[in-house]
Amino acid sequence: MSQKLAVVTGSNKGIGLAVVKALCKRFNGTVYLTSRDESRGKAAVAELNKLGLKPAYHQLDVIDRKSIERFRDHIKKNHGGIDILVNNAAVANSVELYNNYEECKYIVDINYKSLLTIQELLFPLIRDNGRIVNISSDCGHLSNIRNKYWIDRLSKKDLTVKDVNEFVDWFLEGVKNGTFNYDDIADGGTVAAYRVAKVGVSALTILQQKELEPRNISVNSMHPGLVRTDMTVGAGFYSTDEAAETPVYLALDAPQSLKGQYVWYDRKVLDWYDYKADWFFKTSTLKS
Ligand code: NDP
Repeated sequence: MSQKLAVVTGSNKGIGLAVVKALCKRFNGTVYLTSRDESRGKAAVAELNKLGLKPAYHQLDVIDRKSIERFRDHIKKNHGGIDILVNNAAVANSVELYNNYEECKYIVDINYKSLLTIQELLFPLIRDNGRIVNISSDCGHLSNIRNKYWIDRLSKKDLTVKDVNEFVDWFLEGVKNGTFNYDDIADGGTVAAYRVAKVGVSALTILQQKELEPRNISVNSMHPGLVRTDMTVGAGFYSTDEAAETPVYLALDAPQSLKGQYVWYDRKVLDWYDYKADWFFKTSTLKS
């Protein structure tokens, strides 16, 4: 049987790099560090080599279909399949709490739409009994949404990808036309694009679980906590190594019966559908 394989997207820095580091220490198989920029990725590999860790490397830009195809072909040819996939690559609003249409589209494309291409191109390579961890956010809990129509539609038992796509497109169209009502999003509509994209990630996770259930593959989304990385401009309560603990738990240690859930950084499984809950992101925590 071929060696086991783990892949982490966007892992040249931040939480993704810490997940690769932890997997290199514990996973009995090959761990792929991937990055959109080859030089940044190779510099990260060199950093891990200094610690005696030896990840494999391949370029992977999650919004470049050709790049994902090249990665897929490389994995198929050299390894046959993937056992663990951590979808970590993302961008956020940085210091801007409100974004123009182009910025919103970019955020939605990288955080949410990329997962649809990865689903199409890489899921066929995931081996039976494999595990997928989608890094979401507290911005990805349904309580970030205040629009009753979309809360109801995203909560449907027979939710489809079309529903989730129409949800993100509703947001983008509204921003484009200048008609978006920011009261439809929690916390005054701050970081709205990132919230919409991450709610999309967590909703899609539920659908991906349904698709992969027959092969006993688990798919969970999770919030890593507020973590000191470039994304938060250094603000946060946790180091990247601490933040990697729960994704790695989901990838290696959680019971295989844990499926299609939304998991908090302390490993607690939350009710994603509880739209009245207080789990949504508050920008005030950035200042505390
Ligand atoms: P960072 O900004 O430190 O790292 C993001 C990583 O994603 C970088 O390696 C970046 O590469 C990569 N990336 C961005 N776009 C692409 C792309 N198109 N293709 C491939 N890789 C890409 O962020 P964090 O480590 O903080 O975030 C990791 C995950 O955790 C994200 O999913 C984020 O949304 C989530 N998260 C983080 C929180 C926090 O407090 N930090 C809180 C909640 C969720 P490059 O260097 O080239 O830009």
